[in-house]
Amino acid sequence: MISVAVPVPLRRTFDYRSEVDIKPGSRVLIPFAHRHLVGVVVPVPPDKSVRKHKNVIHVLDDRPSISPTMLEFYTWSANYYHHPIGEVIHAALPPNLRKAVKLYDPDTPEYYMQNSDIPEHEALSMITRAPKQEQLYSSLSKGKCLCFDEIQKLPQVSDIRNIRGGLQNLTKKGLVIQTHRPAGDLRPFEGTLNPEQSEALSNIKAAEQGFHTHLIHGITGSGKTEIYLQAIHDCLKQGQQVLVLVPEISLTEQLVERFVNRFGDRVHCYHSGINKAQRYRTWWKARNGTAGVILGTRSAVFMPILDLARIVVDEEHDLSFKQMDGFRYHARDLAIKRASLHDVPIILGSATPSIESMQNAHSGKYHLSTLRKRAGEANLPKIQFVDLRQQPTQHGLSPSLISAIRKQLENSQQTILYINRRGYAPIAECPNCKWRACCDRCDTYLTYHKTSNRLCCHYCGKTFETPEICPQCRSGLFFRGAGTQRIEESLGNLFPDASILRFDRDRIRSFRQLRDTLDAINSGQADIIVGTRMISKGHDFHGVTLVGIINADQGLFSIDFRAPEQLFQDLLQVSGRSGRGQDPGRVFIQTHHPDNPYMEMVRNQDYDSFFESCREERKLAHVPPFSSFALWRVESRERQDGFRFLRTVKQYGDSLLASMNLAAVKIMDPVDSPILRIDEWHRFQLLVNSTTRAHLHQLLKHWVYSVESIPNNQKLRWSLDIDPMEMY
Ligand code: ADP
Ligand code: ZN
Ligand code: ZN
Repeated sequence: MISVAVPVPLRRTFDYRSEVDIKPGSRVLIPFAHRHLVGVVVPVPPDKSVRKHKNVIHVLDDRPSISPTMLEFYTWSANYYHHPIGEVIHAALPPNLRKAVKLYDPDTPEYYMQNSDIPEHEALSMITRAPKQEQLYSSLSKGKCLCFDEIQKLPQVSDIRNIRGGLQNLTKKGLVIQTHRPAGDLRPFEGTLNPEQSEALSNIKAAEQGFHTHLIHGITGSGKTEIYLQAIHDCLKQGQQVLVLVPEISLTEQLVERFVNRFGDRVHCYHSGINKAQRYRTWWKARNGTAGVILGTRSAVFMPILDLARIVVDEEHDLSFKQMDGFRYHARDLAIKRASLHDVPIILGSATPSIESMQNAHSGKYHLSTLRKRAGEANLPKIQFVDLRQQPTQHGLSPSLISAIRKQLENSQQTILYINRRGYAPIAECPNCKWRACCDRCDTYLTYHKTSNRLCCHYCGKTFETPEICPQCRSGLFFRGAGTQRIEESLGNLFPDASILRFDRDRIRSFRQLRDTLDAINSGQADIIVGTRMISKGHDFHGVTLVGIINADQGLFSIDFRAPEQLFQDLLQVSGRSGRGQDPGRVFIQTHHPDNPYMEMVRNQDYDSFFESCREERKLAHVPPFSSFALWRVESRERQDGFRFLRTVKQYGDSLLASMNLAAVKIMDPVDSPILRIDEWHRFQLLVNSTTRAHLHQLLKHWVYSVESIPNNQKLRWSLDIDPMEMY
């Protein structure tokens, strides 16, 4: 009898019978409620009391695909997030292995070179009447491995249509060898670290042995990445492996290039921008130890790694590390747990560390290194405010910002304009009767998109025809406010000769488009880039010397206690894109509230004061990191069902709490979510907080089981969010 973790939303394992002995960590195909599912054998004692058990249909792994350490890590994650273990393991596996396929070696030789044993004249005599093959053969060299992509780009073969076929023929004749590329030498840094960098690196090295967390707080462009590179270099020299997590795919590209430059083919990626076969290959190589660096977005935290020596989490403050639906985990937090399980050090880096991490550094839980100067020649940009109370804007742009952009164009320098809103205008309304276009599935306003001339809901994705006139009083409609498209249009009118590039999710839909767009920015083709938060993070563009922030006030008066932190991080991060090359950078921030204390700290780029005041506020309010949160979310088709369900949830919690004597825990009342209806689901939430994390989890462990047993139907769904990062 074996216990199997099955990918279904139930917090338990299921027992099956098997003729053969199956090791924990092996994938098996099992019958489950009229379906066949892929589950994973887990080391949980089967329940002997049950008589009737179904048989395993098929054992998919000859050797377990999941090691005992990884199984322990997945189990810990499931327990911490109170999420079904079957779903956790399912999310952790590469997509290919979620299906009923056997493990396979994807490591086919991918590189080509001339066969060095056959002299050239002899080889050429073997290619008769095939000029294209001859051409292809001559474009390769002995001893130099090229992959297919590289061969395709060679000018000598630009007129050959079927390169792959040609290579196959040459390989069959033995003239070309298909092989693996040797990893090559590790290339050292050619410059010298500045004193702050050297100190940080020696701090990291000094604490070398075993698990500990090191936080690098280094302003934008201070050379944090260079420190990661050197720390990683040392591990690779020993033949060990390193896991590197970044928040966004858009950041992997640039980082991969820098990493490959130094570490060659040891670098392997894992994120949704690469295809499933490539993800499987990374998984395979990570697991057998041949991938030196595994670089990926949040789900890479689950990669099995044979000889893990170190973990790096870049931009650790970034909210994208939090998975916001399904299995809601925080990849940075899991990375820290993972480092402790493997007993290896972990480096977190950021220009604007999260309040949580900095608090841990202050309390001595993390080691801290600080970099206050930009690396190399560059300096921090100068930030100035444009007071919107005194300067009226023209379609979002103030006269000061317009003239600054004009100067940029005259001097052939690049500008980034940041506005965290896609589309043309966030509101379509009637100036006469105040009618506003709303989504019929959500309680939200519709955003006007000029490119498609449609009204779009940014919550459910539904789009609507744009009415010519107000449906209530037949006046003409007015589009209020600005998004990226409107700013792009205004710039086009103001600067007809400039090349303007929009950088948002509507324009960049694929990894390829992303790559091309980044190339266009780096090569200087784009004069002005108008972008959402996508553009604000981590990029190292050397030609940008002006950043304009169209509207800094979003979020200044939000009810969410994390809003000031998010605002500060956004403004400082996007400002940090300015002046990273040789020329000094400037930042213009348009705001109605230049006197707001947080704005003042942004202007002074004063993280320390910002941290202090945030910390004091949170301490007084008893919110994280001074307490732990869990948030129940319920969604229902009928409004009253969800609320009723959540009231039952609360009752169960209250009575458990009364019997368990956990004084630190407080259960709030169920409330409507800030956006009450999305995609025809009514939404409610219930907040639980505790000054002691352990108490919270003790309660939740029992609570979640009792909630799971409440009869439920298709018209209601619920979830539990541990350490929620947003309250919507
Ligand atoms: P961060 O990761 O903190 O934003 P980077 O590591 O990307 O900073 O460094 C910013 C720029 O400075 C990069 O172009 C990098 O190559 C360069 N750089 C980093 N360290 C040094 C150094 N010690 N000397 C000269 N240039 C450096
Ligand atoms: Zn009207
Ligand atoms: Zn909608």
